[in-house]
Amino acid sequence: MVFPQPGMLSDDDVRMLAAVDERDRARMAEVVRDIRGRLNPHPSGQREHNVPSLDGERLAGLQHKYRETVLYFPGQGQTCHAYCTYCFRWAQFIGDADLRFAAPGPERLVAYLRRHPEVTDVLVTGGDPMVMSTERLREHLEPILAVDTVRTIRIGTKSISYWPHRFVGDRDADDALRLFDQVVASGRQMAVMAHFSHVREVETDTAREAVSRIRSTGASVYCQAPMVANVNDQAGVWTDLWTAELGLGAVPYYMFVERDTGPYEYFKVPLARAVEIFHAAYRRLPGLARTVRGPVMSATPGKVLVDSVEQTPQGRWFRLRLVQARDPALVGRPFRARFSTSAAWLSDLELDPATPADIAAAVGPHTRATGGSR
Ligand SMILES: *Cc1c(COP(=O)(O)O)cnc(C)c1O
Ligand code: SF4
Repeated sequence: MVFPQPGMLSDDDVRMLAAVDERDRARMAEVVRDIRGRLNPHPSGQREHNVPSLDGERLAGLQHKYRETVLYFPGQGQTCHAYCTYCFRWAQFIGDADLRFAAPGPERLVAYLRRHPEVTDVLVTGGDPMVMSTERLREHLEPILAVDTVRTIRIGTKSISYWPHRFVGDRDADDALRLFDQVVASGRQMAVMAHFSHVREVETDTAREAVSRIRSTGASVYCQAPMVANVNDQAGVWTDLWTAELGLGAVPYYMFVERDTGPYEYFKVPLARAVEIFHAAYRRLPGLARTVRGPVMSATPGKVLVDSVEQTPQGRWFRLRLVQARDPALVGRPFRARFSTSAAWLSDLELDPATPADIAAAVGPHTRATGGSR
């Protein structure tokens, strides 16, 4: 997950790197820059989309795509304890991405929330907001508590596995838990959205203690991760992971499909295989762990779930369903696309011509047949 492997680059690129004299730093930087530039550093420009405005001013550090949820990117939370080789935000970790998208403080967020009572969820994300000191984190979270219409605060993090000390033993670990207490005491739901890719990540004593301490505040822990080849593309890995999460009192939530960025050829898993692995793992789960949904593509029109593969007299199809969309009327209705053994993203799919018009209008432009691009 974090240690670069030669297989992550093409043979040509590996040869090109190997040929550079390590002492020639300028040449090395040039070769690295060239390779990185070809690894799609800015997939789908998520941050440039759905940036809301207030009185005509674009609000940096906010993204409002689904009615009830606003994403908030605090400026000091845009790095991470882990540097996953599959991270779709890797460009910002190499100083390449424009960090002006991030919010210096929560003032504009709070003003926006007051104007938009339909927003009940604030998802604080990054990078990893838990890289911030508790003092900093408090400066971002506390003002949100003054907005009554916000009922849930979520924090996306990989710290439980990569720096569990953030909740156990760090100088301000107890303060972080008190901050969670405070959110819960305000009558709100506090949720830690934990990124766990493999059961190993929840097997250390400190990680387990971190989850237990977080839960002792009344906060819940929801778990999500992408499926990536060479790391977790086996049903047994997911059965073990979800079962272990349940054992910790955490909630298995989403299994994502990997995006087209970085060493994508190394990590990508075809949808046909992903759906097979998901179901093989799901079938073996205890009922309470069947809260998980996947494989899910977090794509431009929304979160597209690949439900299953169906065999019909007209051939094989992927059965799909939006589990999140800008227009709530689209959520939950089944539609389908031609089965393919190689398709690995929405843009590789061909919708059934009989797809209902509203779904086709939202999803179609992002699929292959209508000229979608990644
Ligand atoms: C996944 C996601 C959310 C949260 O969706 P839930 O289904 O409520 O977890 C919100 N905004 C964006 C842009 C997302 O990708
Ligand atoms: S934990 Fe998330 S943000 Fe951090 S490097 Fe991994 S994928 Fe990127």
